Amino acid sequence: MKIFLQGLFIFQLLLSCTFGSECTPELKFDGKKIVLSDKEWKERLTPEQYWILRENGTERPFENEYDDNKSKGLYLCAACQLALFSSDEKYDSKTGWPSFWKPICPENIGLRKDYALFLIKRIEVYCSRCDSHLGHVFDDGPPPTGKRYCMNSLALTFLPEKSGKSD
Ligand SMILES: [Zn+2]
Repeated sequence: MKIFLQGLFIFQLLLSCTFGSECTPELKFDGKKIVLSDKEWKERLTPEQYWILRENGTERPFENEYDDNKSKGLYLCAACQLALFSSDEKYDSKTGWPSFWKPICPENIGLRKDYALFLIKRIEVYCSRCDSHLGHVFDDGPPPTGKRYCMNSLALTFLPEKSGKSD
């Protein structure tokens, strides 16, 4: 079922043939939420993914998959495959986590206050479609937004841009 869903969403993305950072109707969240029980999420995700996506965990810096990834493509939610970020807005924040200065579509992510670290207010970033935890956003990013979307690699699935595009 998980493979089927992933295949379906990736197929939809490929149909759009759109990479880069433009928020197209195909990439934009359509408002249809995915709601699963904890048991169902556990069946679909690895234990590490479950800890980050569903229990607000944070992976180790530098020793993760996408911090150093410089390939062109899209970063999808690892839980529901919604397109979240593009390599066009990825930059090296030196923090050890994959960092972006904006999401592809503002509608595709949600923000909420997070006080998990005692007395330190952080802004949590979560997936609009499945409510999974992705990371945090900070105000020390580069222009033009000044934002740093600090993501967990394990919360993302990278979809490489196809080489040999006609344009
Ligand atoms: Zn999601």
